[in-house]
Amino acid sequence: MHVPLVLTDFLDRAVELYGDKVAVIDGERKFTYSDMNRRVNRLARGLKNAGVEKGDKVAYLAPNSVEMLEGFYGVFSVGGIMTPLNTRLKPEEYRFILTHSESKVLLVDHELLHLVEPILDGVPALEKVVVHGDYSGKHANYEEWIASFGGDPFNREPLEETDIASLLYTSGTTGEPKGVLLTHRTNYLHAMSAMHHLRVSDRDTLLHVLPMFHVNGWGSPFYYTANGATQVMLRKVDPKKILQLLHEHNVTVMHMAPTVLNMIFDEFEANQEAMHQQNVRVIIAGSAPPPAFVRKVEEGLGWEFVQVYGMTEIAPLITTSVIRSAGKEIELEDQYRLKAKAGYAMIGSRVKVVDERGKEVPRDGETTGEIVTRTNTVMEGYFKNPDATSAAIRDGWLHTGDMATVDADGYIDIVDRKKDVIISGGENISSIEVEGMLYEHPAIVEAAVVAVPHERWGEVPHAVVVVREGAEVTEDELIAFCRDRMAHFKAPKGITFTDELPKTASGKIQKVVIRNAFWKDRDRLVQ
Ligand code: ATP
Ligand code: MG
Repeated sequence: MHVPLVLTDFLDRAVELYGDKVAVIDGERKFTYSDMNRRVNRLARGLKNAGVEKGDKVAYLAPNSVEMLEGFYGVFSVGGIMTPLNTRLKPEEYRFILTHSESKVLLVDHELLHLVEPILDGVPALEKVVVHGDYSGKHANYEEWIASFGGDPFNREPLEETDIASLLYTSGTTGEPKGVLLTHRTNYLHAMSAMHHLRVSDRDTLLHVLPMFHVNGWGSPFYYTANGATQVMLRKVDPKKILQLLHEHNVTVMHMAPTVLNMIFDEFEANQEAMHQQNVRVIIAGSAPPPAFVRKVEEGLGWEFVQVYGMTEIAPLITTSVIRSAGKEIELEDQYRLKAKAGYAMIGSRVKVVDERGKEVPRDGETTGEIVTRTNTVMEGYFKNPDATSAAIRDGWLHTGDMATVDADGYIDIVDRKKDVIISGGENISSIEVEGMLYEHPAIVEAAVVAVPHERWGEVPHAVVVVREGAEVTEDELIAFCRDRMAHFKAPKGITFTDELPKTASGKIQKVVIRNAFWKDRDRLVQ
């Protein structure tokens, strides 16, 4: 008989095979898979009692936590749609997403309640608010609420694999976030592919560094659960805390942005002892660092570096740079070079780099085109936005808006987002390439390069940088550093020094915000 690909299967499998194994650690709290399952059953009863029916949205506003992890399985048990909210939005943005998503119940962490409290009365479909953690007040307290329902097996809402599992809003790096609808099937097939390529096993302990409300962070609750791995929660990015947790819980794997890895490097430098007290096997990053950075991770820390590429609209991952040697020896330097690329298609996805007419660009590692994909993990569409959906999926191919090259071995290398490419005097400049050069300067911790208006060239590259504490460098020195090492038209024409760059909650630099400040009312403003 046909068995639908439904995400609750992953928890059932873990309970059956790993019932007594620790599933989740969150501060002082530790639950086995059987314990977690009982809590999930109580939660499911609570949600049902609150009127959640198949197809209803349940919103979560929470840091990485036990509640967030059990939330996925509780919501799916009643046939609900998990709608996680970014923890760094403004009240008005919460009002927009809660209203737009038609969320019926909101589960919110006590430390984040103040972010939504002012707008809760104005959300039409919202019927119940439940608060996690240390809370008593007019809303329900989560622990008391779930304790009032039994933890025996719960009669789950029957689901088809084509039912929607999640409504996830994109990071908003390039404009307004859009609501992405993914089915159980897409999330399931993504999990199967990811667990294969990332070699996830029951010996793994994952430290959730990326926020779980972000698609990169929350694909993992599926594939680590399915394999009976242990999941350790990190509520807030703090390098000292990360080092402590690596040691305390014998963490083997982390998914994170290179900016966080940089903080970890600095922390290890200050605390060399900690290097010998950890057992991490691999870190998985969804952005393109230079080969020198990959070498630093692999040789300096002894951690395997894996790059992945994807986006919310495709559940999210479609490529990986895990070295495929097919039995051949590959020189270390070549490995670092390849791992600095986004890689090749994962199982279940076809990935092409095409020119404006849709023709594949030559595999020469030089010609740039847009990444398009046909994948069994593609979204159903943007919620209530058919125009944006048909602009993104054309002729069966999802157009990613990311520019890349592809080499003779089929390794894709991200050049830039279409919107971030700087067009100067008819030449295309990759902002990422110029940033990579700035990162090679020892004084630079963070850099963003954007197009600014220029009378003669139309646009020129301009860098906004954060300088390492205690280091000193001038604008002229940085420009000269780049001009000595790259084509002059690519080197920044000006530098702005700042203490902090604008970022999304998942740690991505919002170049659109930086760029808009330079363009004010001009037509390069991107929404
Ligand atoms: P929005 O769509 O709201 O502007 P966003 O595109 O940042 O936000 P996500 O879906 O979280 O939202 O991120 C996907 C994007 O992240 C990709 O389109 C790509 O630009 C970037 N990205 C993902 N993986 C990589 C990678 N390995 N290297 C470089 N960039 C990457
Ligand atoms: Mg996007």
